[in-house]
Amino acid sequence: MNKAYAAVRLALGLAVAVLAGSEATAAPTLKGRAVWASPRDAGTTEESVVAFVDQLAKAHVNTLVMEVKTSAGIFWPSDRFAPAVVAEYHDFDFPAVLIRQCHRRRIAVHAWFFDFAEGAGSSVVQQHPEWLALSPDGKPTTAEILRGRPYRLAWMCPARRPGYTDQWLIPLIKEFAQRYDVDAIHHDYVRYPGDLAPDTYCFCDYCLEQIPKYAGYYSPAHPDHALLAPMDRPHLEAHWERSPKVLPPNWSEYTREMKSRLLLEGGFFPGGHRDLDYFFYEYRAHQVAQFTRQVFEEVRKAKPKIEFSAAVFKNPVQSGRFIGQDWRRFAPWVQYLMPMDYRSHYAGDFATHLDLLAESIQQQKVWAADFPHLWIGVAAYQLYDAERVPLDRLRRLAREGGSASEMKGEFEKVAVRLEKYAPDLHAAIVAQLREGGSAETLAAKLDAFLSSMPADYAPPDRLTKTLETVRAQGVEGVVIFSTGGLTAGHLWEAVEAFFGR
Ligand SMILES: [Zn+2]
Repeated sequence: MNKAYAAVRLALGLAVAVLAGSEATAAPTLKGRAVWASPRDAGTTEESVVAFVDQLAKAHVNTLVMEVKTSAGIFWPSDRFAPAVVAEYHDFDFPAVLIRQCHRRRIAVHAWFFDFAEGAGSSVVQQHPEWLALSPDGKPTTAEILRGRPYRLAWMCPARRPGYTDQWLIPLIKEFAQRYDVDAIHHDYVRYPGDLAPDTYCFCDYCLEQIPKYAGYYSPAHPDHALLAPMDRPHLEAHWERSPKVLPPNWSEYTREMKSRLLLEGGFFPGGHRDLDYFFYEYRAHQVAQFTRQVFEEVRKAKPKIEFSAAVFKNPVQSGRFIGQDWRRFAPWVQYLMPMDYRSHYAGDFATHLDLLAESIQQQKVWAADFPHLWIGVAAYQLYDAERVPLDRLRRLAREGGSASEMKGEFEKVAVRLEKYAPDLHAAIVAQLREGGSAETLAAKLDAFLSSMPADYAPPDRLTKTLETVRAQGVEGVVIFSTGGLTAGHLWEAVEAFFGR
């Protein structure tokens, strides 16, 4: 190496060192640094809210997405919607305190609404059971059984007018927006149910009438006209544009079950493709997108600068088909798109998931081209499902008197890791399996362990690797689910380090 070259190398090295030094102290580089949160993470006193917001500020969070309406009810002291207010929030004005504290620290607040998902016993369901989404057999989602238990969400029909959407949900959102200095409204459950049979909703009376109208299956002015036209082309479906009457002459005599079956399994032409399901899915995607439009227009009248964000599924082409959520159609009415790119939404091991995640984000950047902001949603706690879920099941088996072999099966999934990082708990489970003993004592030990998993057992770098993968795709922001999971998983330091860079 000659002297001049060595001098250049030295100078370059110094320059790099200076740059690295200045980077370490510079402001965070990622524009959107958000978390999803539940009111229980912030408590119900001014002091607990301050402590919660301090934690956000320390971790460089600049946007908080906080639940204000879940399937349990609403979290502000509303007079108009008093029966829906969750008990502890009648006297404590949680959003007022939270928003004030956040704004003091320059943290924006998005108010998170479960749009179409209510609780089985919620006040609106009791007052207006006619607003529930119905399956072909005329039953609501709460009549379904999922994994051996009654389905816990009462899904409301997104389409019916007047109905849940325009009589309850939009007025609720409007009240919140007018009452509080909130920065944005956040949509969640802005879709049809997906974990039940995705094709079975909604066949309420309103939808049975509206789907044929929406898709043009008859002429309201000439409902009994057969509307036959010359079939002068060789292919049957080539005659589609003269809109033949699709409904059978005695449609009005069909039962709900028969109507639903035709709308899902019938064909546009007798003897042609059985393609009517296409129009059913199109109707659902349209109704959900129309809701985002209507709520945007209504709330903007009262609050011209308010913005909207939405938690959506990762692939709008697929979610349009399965849950009526083709979110590409939300673009004019939603400014912040937050795809839930959670670990549980990808198959494969952790490394495979990172590859799939990167692919997804690249696709999402194209699909979301019309949205001003694309912030990628990551579920922190779920990254540790492999370590956590077997212990969670073991706890349930202990409490419910599960068999020793079932308990052993769950234990074996994590035994090696437990023995290394939590030997006391490992020994307690081994003793329980071998000798029996108080199942409740074991369950209580698991409660304690699961509510705060040791860092060795659930390594924080898995979250960091996921976040780095997201950032490497060149997106504007990240939203982490959720503050409760970050606390339980001891993951705040990892977030602070990542957001601080
Ligand atoms: Zn309906």
